[in-house]
Amino acid sequence: MQDLRAVLDRLDAAGRLRRIAEPVSPIFDLASVSRFAQLDDTLSHDVLLFERVEGAELPVVANLMVRRENVALALGIEPRDLLAHGVRALERPIPPVRVERAPCQEIVERAPDVDLRTLPICQNSELDGGRYITAGVHITRNPETGARNIGLQRNEVHDADTLGIWMAPTHMRRHYEIVEAQNRPLPVAIVIGVHPAVLIASQFRTAFDEDELPAAGGLLGEPIETVRCVTCDLEVPAHAEIVIEGEVLPGERHPEGPFGEFTRQYGIERPLPVVKVRAITRRRDAMYQNVLSGKSPEHPMIGALGREPSLFRAVHAALPTVTAVHMPLGSGANMHAWISIKKTSEGDAQKVGFAAFAHQDLIKHVIVVDDDIDIFDPFEMDYALATRVHAARDIFVVPRVRAVVLDPAAEEYAVGKGTVDKMIIDATKPHLAPPGSFTMADVPAAALARVAAHRARFFGGA
Ligand code: MN
Repeated sequence: MQDLRAVLDRLDAAGRLRRIAEPVSPIFDLASVSRFAQLDDTLSHDVLLFERVEGAELPVVANLMVRRENVALALGIEPRDLLAHGVRALERPIPPVRVERAPCQEIVERAPDVDLRTLPICQNSELDGGRYITAGVHITRNPETGARNIGLQRNEVHDADTLGIWMAPTHMRRHYEIVEAQNRPLPVAIVIGVHPAVLIASQFRTAFDEDELPAAGGLLGEPIETVRCVTCDLEVPAHAEIVIEGEVLPGERHPEGPFGEFTRQYGIERPLPVVKVRAITRRRDAMYQNVLSGKSPEHPMIGALGREPSLFRAVHAALPTVTAVHMPLGSGANMHAWISIKKTSEGDAQKVGFAAFAHQDLIKHVIVVDDDIDIFDPFEMDYALATRVHAARDIFVVPRVRAVVLDPAAEEYAVGKGTVDKMIIDATKPHLAPPGSFTMADVPAAALARVAAHRARFFGGA
């Protein structure tokens, strides 16, 4: 059970798949219908399957990664177990196994007989510079060590066989820097239409040269089956819907952007590297997947599901009394980290704060709370900030740390371009607070449990 269509079957059985037969344009319309559904109470829980997209033969899956409940359903777990399940996958990875024949290669088109424009690639945000692949899992190898990396990057369609690429300043970009210095291209496979486990694994923050695909196997509980690409020595998930094989060319730059990003703002147009497509392989009846970025919660949700387990491991290594971490969607699931701890000493908050900053470049504001606060509930976070913080004592600022360029604050306001100030808020109770001094007032828990046990007496029904 490692293909996207099996996930859709499972969602369908649970009443969570909505098929849309009305034809839509891939230019803004598909995104707008998806966004409308996200904002509508009766539609926001559903994954969408657009059966007819103008100018393309293939259907499009949308809103797959908007709700934690649907991702949990795909993985066969409860939503509240997503963090622990991700941590377990990182700790107990299952290496992929290679197969010789794969559904993702039922149809093989090689250059020059490839045309990206036959795929239902969408234009999503109003000011986007063109059509963008937004759910493309990029697979590359470190040219020096051969180690595999998988990550999500955005690709603008430039023409029939050329894509733009914005490489986040992480592992794939490092691979490209190494080969570009030798004036060689970087082979890349862009995989579209995979099990959510692979999308989540693409957001795991593993060490450089530590393959993320075994962790995807850990999420699934079975090895990911891979197949060798038809034009290069990379392996891709065999059960993917579509694979674009290509090379990031050395020394080539082409204007790319703007693109509505996880920051809810546009990444500006800049000269960026290009991918020359060497082949497109796919299933005979392949499905394409579109992910909405910008104000939509979907793009940050994918990030949160991968980065939270990674962050948990990092801060838990620094302080074993960490109980949970959350990267809220409002911050793009990047800039804010909320961390709960069983506090055993003053200064615990600073320690996990520094561990979080060291682990992920984009984390800017860390709020540390006690473990009686539910960090997945913004209401409770407000409560902790309101009742447990003395600003002059509990806020720590680390000035002028290297920033990621997509952070709007880094571009406009930082002291020294490309840096931001980082902040830790210690919203924990004093370690030696007098017993009973922070007791939360509520009705007696035992009385509440008695009501629950006799619910029908008061409210009727079964
Ligand atoms: Mn990596």
